[in-house]
Amino acid sequence: MSEIKHACSCEACKSMCWSPGMGTPEEIEKLIDNGLTDHLTLQSVDKRDANSETWPVVMPKTNYSNMRCVFQDKQTQLCMLHDLDAKPLECRLANCQISKWIFLNIEDEKKQNKHGNRIIIEDMWNTDKGRQVVKKFCISRGMILAKHHRDARDAA
Ligand code: SF4
Repeated sequence: MSEIKHACSCEACKSMCWSPGMGTPEEIEKLIDNGLTDHLTLQSVDKRDANSETWPVVMPKTNYSNMRCVFQDKQTQLCMLHDLDAKPLECRLANCQISKWIFLNIEDEKKQNKHGNRIIIEDMWNTDKGRQVVKKFCISRGMILAKHHRDARDAA
């Protein structure tokens, strides 16, 4: 999988940061370990089908003063995580250079769209590692997990 390593400052790339990108549990754990928990938030995701299973993910916050990802520099509009080599996976797959997204799943054509990437990364959080990082985030923020998420975590 080829990822985008450069920091592109074109309008198309900068405009993508209105919606915070999702990282893997390992990537987000590094942000927690580096003291960036106040830039992160807990979201609930689901299977996007008739199954009502939901689970928590930790991801960058939206800055409600400008409705952009909290990691987007307000002046330059560049990602503050780029130079730290800490840009979330979903962001590293979105780019203007090839005028389409790089897809995580190259076997399943139905998942070859930006939503496919998001679904695959969401699923990475429905794992022991994902639940461990959610727990770490909650402890660092003094938060208590909702009961249905606690049940899912404890069953793991
Ligand atoms: S983490 Fe960086 S690249 Fe991803 S949405 Fe936020 S500012 Fe943009």
